[in-house]
Amino acid sequence: MSYVDEVLARVKAKNASEPEFLQAVEEVLESLRPVIEAHEEQYKKEALLERLTEPDRQIKFRVPWVDDKGQVQVNTGYRVQFNNAIGPYKGGLRLHPSVNIGIIKFLGFEQVFKNSLTGLPIGGGKGGSDFDPKGKSDREIMAFCQSFMTELYKYIGADVDVPAGDIGTGAREIGYMYGQYKRLTGLYEGVLTGKGLTYGGSLARTEATGYGLLYLTRELMKCHGMDMKDKICCVSGSGNVAIYAVEKAQQMGAKVVTVSDSTGWIYDPEGIDVALLKEVKEVKRARLTEYAAARPSAQYHEGRGVWQIKCDIALPCATQNELLIDDAKALVANGVTAVCEGANMPTTLEATKYLQDNGVLFVCGKASNAGGVATSALEMTQNSERLSWTFDEVNEKLEQIMINIYHNIDDAAKRYGMEGNYVAGANIAGFEKVANAMLAQGV
Ligand code: GLU
Repeated sequence: MSYVDEVLARVKAKNASEPEFLQAVEEVLESLRPVIEAHEEQYKKEALLERLTEPDRQIKFRVPWVDDKGQVQVNTGYRVQFNNAIGPYKGGLRLHPSVNIGIIKFLGFEQVFKNSLTGLPIGGGKGGSDFDPKGKSDREIMAFCQSFMTELYKYIGADVDVPAGDIGTGAREIGYMYGQYKRLTGLYEGVLTGKGLTYGGSLARTEATGYGLLYLTRELMKCHGMDMKDKICCVSGSGNVAIYAVEKAQQMGAKVVTVSDSTGWIYDPEGIDVALLKEVKEVKRARLTEYAAARPSAQYHEGRGVWQIKCDIALPCATQNELLIDDAKALVANGVTAVCEGANMPTTLEATKYLQDNGVLFVCGKASNAGGVATSALEMTQNSERLSWTFDEVNEKLEQIMINIYHNIDDAAKRYGMEGNYVAGANIAGFEKVANAMLAQGV
């Protein structure tokens, strides 16, 4: 049995109840086979893959808070500090009822490679809670965030572990958590990213994941002799990543015709109205039915269906496992050119393989959505030097980082004879740096 198969079997036996984590590990280890085989003896002796697939530590805690009726509610909080070989743990906090330890572990594992790909000194971690922010009042959100931080603060710090936003955690939640961290520790430090602009946040952080996705997509298209002009794009999701992906795609001359939320989706053949989308989602925190009500050209459909629409570029920006095999088949049948992931692991293993086998240019989230965390690292830099950069300075750095990521993953795939396999390229390029650092630092 090869070393990869041995480790895969062990990870499967140990984490049988964590399907998303297993999926992420399988995807990474499968594509690392040629790299591992080239160093099999050394990596096995060092137990490198066992160490890489086991988080440094997993913190699980009770989060009690009082709702508006005076009732005490209890949620579970998590922080998985996965790997800090190349820098402090870094990664978002997901607040969603689907959150459990397996989801946080999969996200933390992905984050290790993603953060390595940014070229910046950040390790990987992830956290969150099964708390559902939907329909909660501002006061309830504050109560939850303060309680969450009352436990989490013991384990984080500007040079230790720096959480940020993810699904359900935006500037408002980060603000409440930052306030509580400061109250408890007395420290004014860059312990969270995605902060408000008046207290250490970075310009362009809000836009960064969506913009970065498009900078990478444009580079991918350019290197295959195409541009973004007049390309039809389908976007899923309508959160922070989706909104700024739509905005940047349209600035580049493409037309985005879909967005979605947890209950339905919009087809807008005139092109999504970003200002209206922001008003509905960011200001009113409302559902997409409100977008449809205000926009005559938009059709609202219940359920899921974004990937059935004919497009040149598909940008899944909602959540994990949202692009399934039947969606991949529909995209291919409709002549899609590229699929670049804005969310973390939105495409299933089966759908990914189908797209790749059918000649679709496919870039996985750990490369194409790395702009968010890269800009978080730029926020950490600004906090350390107690300066703030202009929007253009941050945006230009972000653009260059995304272009570099594309070329690094392209080169890594070529080095191992897998030209055009950007999944393998991302995993290899991300892995090499972390592996070298782990080996250099000993056990
Ligand atoms: N949650 C984002 C991600 O999945 C951003 C993390 C961060 O900025 O630390 O990469």
